[in-house]
Amino acid sequence: MEAVKTTAEGTKIQTKAVKAFGAAAADAQLQQMSIQRRTPTPHDVEIEILYCGVCHSDLHTARNEWHGTIYPCVPGHEIVGRVVSVGSHVTKFKPGDMAAVGCLVDSCRECEYCKEGLEQYCEPGHTQTYNAPDKHLGKQTFGGYSESIVVTEGFVLRVPENLDLAAVAPLLCAGITTYSPLKHWNVGPGKKVGIVGIGGLGHMGVKLAKAMGAEVIVFTTSPSKVADAKRLGADDVVLSTDEAQMAKYAGKLHFVIDAVSAAHNINAYLNLLRIDGSLALVGAPEHPLKVEAFSLIPYRRSFAGSMIGGIAETQEMLDFCGKHNIVSDIEMINIQQINEAYERLLKGDVKYRFVINMASLKK
Ligand code: NAP
Ligand code: ZN
Ligand code: ZN
Repeated sequence: MEAVKTTAEGTKIQTKAVKAFGAAAADAQLQQMSIQRRTPTPHDVEIEILYCGVCHSDLHTARNEWHGTIYPCVPGHEIVGRVVSVGSHVTKFKPGDMAAVGCLVDSCRECEYCKEGLEQYCEPGHTQTYNAPDKHLGKQTFGGYSESIVVTEGFVLRVPENLDLAAVAPLLCAGITTYSPLKHWNVGPGKKVGIVGIGGLGHMGVKLAKAMGAEVIVFTTSPSKVADAKRLGADDVVLSTDEAQMAKYAGKLHFVIDAVSAAHNINAYLNLLRIDGSLALVGAPEHPLKVEAFSLIPYRRSFAGSMIGGIAETQEMLDFCGKHNIVSDIEMINIQQINEAYERLLKGDVKYRFVINMASLKK
């Protein structure tokens, strides 16, 4: 169903209703709903969504764990699909091309950070793929658990042709969120890197750090992931619940990525850093973490954070994955299984990313 929407500035924008899956409230199960998408403006690309990864941030947001969720909430920011139409000024894409969209669909494009390709840190604020103010239609943006999405050309990414499309989807968040800090902290040959929490983000961190030439040590709470981590490329694996195993790496690592989604003892991982080592937190648990002064003071350690990655860096990451043949390990689900998938995500019971076959939404 097509409709015409008048924006606050008085511009008329055509919209059309598309099927989606989302949450109507923090304690509601996700269910099928209808949302409005704008019809492409001159710089827009319209994409039929084929696959969408399921990030733990989708769950945090759908359940309002970070507060500020606007309902209805349609999550999903690991999107790959086929271009169905493009606006008159679009030059990079044509109908039939494969394309991808990650966590960002727009930014101010003018601030010093945007100019440096750091749109994720845009000063006035970037536009996230879901749960952000929609510049075109007002209200909130809706993510990839939907039939299609319309995104301005500059925020649409090219997919390497040699990779399995469904397994590429998780690269759009889990891939870039680990690639960006690995690059920023100069991970490469001669560096010992720890990856904590082997979920969607963590398992990508292992593959990427290994491909960059680092020695990679995995820290997991799940005995079932110990043998598997070596298959992913880890040089060694530590069951983090075993203090003796943890002691082996105390003060030994140059860099650590912490990708844990729930409350945990961050001090245990800060203590792994050698002199001038850094720990980058990418996991975003609902409640604050307690940092002890003496986890940082000895060895002049740094405790940092990192947020996804900019558009150019996301394309660089996709091209790097194409070159090194890196994709996510996935378990494909239908959209109707999303609530069950969220429960399994909470138990760490996925190796290592659910990807929704969006054809199931057409049923
Ligand atoms: P995920 O697939 O659910 O993985 C999280 C992993 O954390 C689990 O597999 C588990 O690993 C570990 N874990 C879970 N509960 C734990 C607990 N109680 N104690 C210790 N370890 C626990 O999640 P994800 O999609 O990778 O996302 C991870 C976190 O990063 C989420 O908080 C997400 O919102 C956040 N995130 C941040 C950014 C960013 O820009 N910074 C981007 C995307 C996501 P083991 O089984 O190996 O212990
Ligand atoms: Zn994500
Ligand atoms: Zn900006």
